[in-house]
Amino acid sequence: MDLEEYRRRARAWLVENAVEGAEGVAAARRFMAAMYDAGYSGISWPKEWGGQGLTQAEELAFAAEARDFTLPIYAFSIGLGMCGPTIVDLGTDEQRRRWVRPLLRGERIWCQLFSEPGAGSDVASLQTRAEPAEDGWIVNGQKVWTSVAQYADLGLLLARTDVEAPKHRGLTMLVIDMHAPGVTVRPLKDMSGRSNFNEIFFDNVHIPAENLIGQVDDGWSCAVTTLLHERLSISGGVGMSGARDNPASFERLREVVDTGDPIVRDQLVELYVRSRALTLFNQRLAEETRAGVFPGARGSAAKLLLAELTNFGADLAISLAGPEAVAYDDDGGGLARAVSQAPGLSLGGGTNEIMRNIVGDRVLNLPPEPRSDKNVPFKDLKVGTQQ
Ligand SMILES: Cc1cc2nc3c(=O)[nH]c(=O)nc-3n(C[C@H](O)[C@H](O)[C@H](O)COP(=O)(O)OP(=O)(O)OC[C@H]3O[C@@H](n4cnc5c(N)ncnc54)[C@H](O)[C@@H]3O)c2cc1C
Repeated sequence: MDLEEYRRRARAWLVENAVEGAEGVAAARRFMAAMYDAGYSGISWPKEWGGQGLTQAEELAFAAEARDFTLPIYAFSIGLGMCGPTIVDLGTDEQRRRWVRPLLRGERIWCQLFSEPGAGSDVASLQTRAEPAEDGWIVNGQKVWTSVAQYADLGLLLARTDVEAPKHRGLTMLVIDMHAPGVTVRPLKDMSGRSNFNEIFFDNVHIPAENLIGQVDDGWSCAVTTLLHERLSISGGVGMSGARDNPASFERLREVVDTGDPIVRDQLVELYVRSRALTLFNQRLAEETRAGVFPGARGSAAKLLLAELTNFGADLAISLAGPEAVAYDDDGGGLARAVSQAPGLSLGGGTNEIMRNIVGDRVLNLPPEPRSDKNVPFKDLKVGTQQ
């Protein structure tokens, strides 16, 4: 089938199936299952693990059509954008068989368990312990800011397995059953009024040996893989609704504001140019990735640009709408939600300052940040403080 025909069929399917206002996890699971059955979930993922085995061209064609619709798949954003790609890259064949297809079919929701109260930007300072036990591991500790964990069936966990080693070398990546005894999930309310993330407590949780990803004590290199996927998926909008669903996007603002005012026109042009440039940059990174050229730290540049663009759109919407921008409408959504969620994008997936550090260090080859914590055993560090 040529690309135009693929695109036409994708649009026809979206018109038929992308139900406006479909909310909740049950609706999301149903939608993912329908998307899988129609061949639009995991379009460019490997066929042998449940994907469609098509090219990036089809993936991008579907994404371009989907921008005009509201797809209720937010609960799957972490699994599709970060955990699934990590399993495809680093899992054993048995793990890929066990976890990838159920994710793409909407049967399993995943969350990413990295950040802790004392370990965000400096995630290698994390203190959650995984200790060897009969046939696996026993986990104790706490995570925080975990998106979609209140719905999750499985979590990609980073835990400390060696306190004698320097902090980056004593970590291990494990997959945890979020319904296992000893896992407590407490939703946190953010300023949008929603529970977009959670705090999680682990109390003697058993993880079977077959849930180890990569090698014991090599979790940092696994985490780097996840973080690279995370930045690309955030900037590419994996699992997010399209521009039409964002009241602070160019498409929506153009419809509701006075486009005869030259100052407003000038601001809208800037929003359009920045959105378009980022879309093209993301397409290029996605195409390179599928061609085997991993974009590495340029994914951090894309994530930084998206955070800045989102906040520019929100500030513009506030200046145009005035106080109404923060007045909640009946369903608690709309502009107020877009405006109050925008600042979170400058933090989640790595803060703007950390993205700039990475771009400076690894894209521009500027001198790296000085550090004094590299070769010190973790047990001798004052954790929770930047060293
Ligand atoms: C909406 C949202 C969703 C999230 N979802 C998840 C999730 O699903 N899973 C997960 O594990 N985590 C998640 N997080 C956590 C996120 O990764 C962290 O918030 C982020 O890494 C920052 O860590 P922190 O909040 O501890 O801030 P800190 O690391 O304490 O940073 C505080 C401030 O200091 C600055 N700073 C820190 N170090 C440096 C430095 N070296 N150079 C310059 N400035 C620096 C930061 O930029 C920031 O401004 C989410 C966060 C948000 C907001």
